[in-house]
Amino acid sequence: MMTQIRTRFAPSPTGFIHLGNIRSALYPWAFARANGGVFILRIEDTDLERSSQAAVDVILEGMQWLGLDHDEGPYYQMQRMDRYKEVLGQMLEQGLVYRCYMSSAELDALRERQMAAKEKPRYDGTWRPEPGKTLPPVPEGVQPVLRFRNPVGGSVVWEDKVKGRIEISNDELDDLVIARPDGTPTYNFCVVVDDIDMGITHVVRGDDHVNNTPRQINIFRALGKEPPVYAHLPTVLNEQGEKMSKRNGAKAVTQYRDEGYLADGVVNYLARLGWSHGDDEIFTREQFLQWFNLDHLGKSAGQFDEAKLRWVNGQHIKMADDGMLAGLVAEQLAKRGVQVQADARLAALCGLFKDRCATTVELADWISMYFVDVEPSAEDLEAHVTEAVKPALATLREKLTTVAWEKGAIQQAIKDSIAAHGLKMPQLAIPVRVLVCGRAQTPSIDAVLAAFDQKVVLDRLQSV
Ligand code: GLU
Repeated sequence: MMTQIRTRFAPSPTGFIHLGNIRSALYPWAFARANGGVFILRIEDTDLERSSQAAVDVILEGMQWLGLDHDEGPYYQMQRMDRYKEVLGQMLEQGLVYRCYMSSAELDALRERQMAAKEKPRYDGTWRPEPGKTLPPVPEGVQPVLRFRNPVGGSVVWEDKVKGRIEISNDELDDLVIARPDGTPTYNFCVVVDDIDMGITHVVRGDDHVNNTPRQINIFRALGKEPPVYAHLPTVLNEQGEKMSKRNGAKAVTQYRDEGYLADGVVNYLARLGWSHGDDEIFTREQFLQWFNLDHLGKSAGQFDEAKLRWVNGQHIKMADDGMLAGLVAEQLAKRGVQVQADARLAALCGLFKDRCATTVELADWISMYFVDVEPSAEDLEAHVTEAVKPALATLREKLTTVAWEKGAIQQAIKDSIAAHGLKMPQLAIPVRVLVCGRAQTPSIDAVLAAFDQKVVLDRLQSV
């Protein structure tokens, strides 16, 4: 029987999670979902200075919004300290780690000597016990660090699902500090204990961790476990070609929700930012899960492109269910102080305008004319609502007063009015749009008018 796939997303809650970071959640989530596996959320909050609850909240909210649901967790590393200390104790007993009393002044001096001799700075093994070796006398009052006994000779090899075979010689890796003088465990150690305890089979993460991987693999093996499969994702660059980061303007994931992006649109966009399925650009969440595997992850850095995100989102708005859009548009309108029910009428309005919108904010921009007064611009009034057209507007208004309020009859009233005044369609339709909708361009005017209350249209035409 195949073992069940277990993946995790392990963000550090330092700064608000942006799209580049959350892509590292999307792939392990998709891999678990596509294979009937388990997806685990683990918050790596051991950097007390930089971690914050607000950042945790954005991670949780962002993942919930995007539908990246986890089966286990969130686990918090700060709540697992006892477990790390327990494993450290066992490793010390088994001789897998040792106490090192070298002071930072001694370490600095060592580094300087090595640099002067053009050697790579590394710990020299002073306190590493070996058969027949006499260790220096333990200095008074110094709290030791714990160092991991890295294997000597040989190399660490893994088949990275993105980068291919990677081999690092053990001689490159010195004995890593895995517990600080105050006993707190260090990052690489916690990750391994967690990945073991959580039964992780596939680690999908950013390639800024490639350098940690051989060290982590050695710790896995020392603990008698085989390491998981690794897939190191290339960085996401911003539009300027720099690594995407909050410092250079990357927005928090939840901001895209607030700006009217659909979760499915963002998932589609992010999926394509480092993975492909032939030439497919637009796909549903279900298709993505059907197609996703680790074999088609891209090797080169993805570059964020907001215009493309807008386009992808617009395609998803077109495909979206009108009732679902109505709920989102009602929320957007509520933010503007306009309280509207997400009912069948709002859904129909979404259907009428969604083809020309990239976000639900734009959709709300259109639909608000049905619920709040419009203010045509002076330029539009001057350019389109001319003295020459006013008699035709009056005729139309009169016809609309008695017409059956539906699209066909409204269209007939408009046709009859232009015929009566010898005008062309745009000569009347545009001023009607300006007066009723507050803008000179709209979808088909008969459909747009039919969606209004008759009285509202008559009042707005009256204002000439
Ligand atoms: N906490 C790490 C980060 O946010 C991820 C560690 C991992 O995935 O192994 O970069």
